[in-house]
Amino acid sequence: MARTLEVPTYPMAEAVSLDPRRTAVVVVDMQNDFVKPGGKLQVPSAQEAVEPIARLLKRAREAGALVIYTQDLHGEDDPEYRIWGEHVKGGTWGAEIIPELAPQPGDEIVSKPRYDAFYASRMEDVLRSRPEIDTLIITGTVTNICVLHTAGSAALRWYKVVVPKDAVAALSEFDQEAALHQIDFLYKGTITTVDAIRFES
Ligand code: ZN
Repeated sequence: MARTLEVPTYPMAEAVSLDPRRTAVVVVDMQNDFVKPGGKLQVPSAQEAVEPIARLLKRAREAGALVIYTQDLHGEDDPEYRIWGEHVKGGTWGAEIIPELAPQPGDEIVSKPRYDAFYASRMEDVLRSRPEIDTLIITGTVTNICVLHTAGSAALRWYKVVVPKDAVAALSEFDQEAALHQIDFLYKGTITTVDAIRFES
């Protein structure tokens, strides 16, 4: 039975100024299966995050910040199918990044087998080859799954983590708020909005 709890609050940063040379925007798993109607694991609110993410990416690219896409990707008999059913299988429509956020030349695409984008992926290589980057803006879906694990993994490596809450999506408001609270409380991330982020060299 559901219980009523008070939602813990976390500070919302009203202005976040970031040096684009030291910042990467990470777009987590904005793939058809997670975002689009007909997708195998659709997160309905993810569609509301598309436009804010697109707005952020436009400004980030203009400022010269690196954009990194993560792409959840599974093979024929992935053990994750026992938890979630088949999803983002390689070569299918569901595995493709949504066309509204199509990667551009110069962006990095990091495929990953699990929630944490640093695990068994190219992420560390992509970041180590750009040692000036110390801040990751993390967007995408699902807030309490791949976004949270990736934010945590980044923070454990001492990256500064910034999460614009209008650019992340979860299946419930509880999941969304609990994950943002955790990112603030445990990982010392900055919770903000897309429009509060300024790229200033
Ligand atoms: Zn998966």
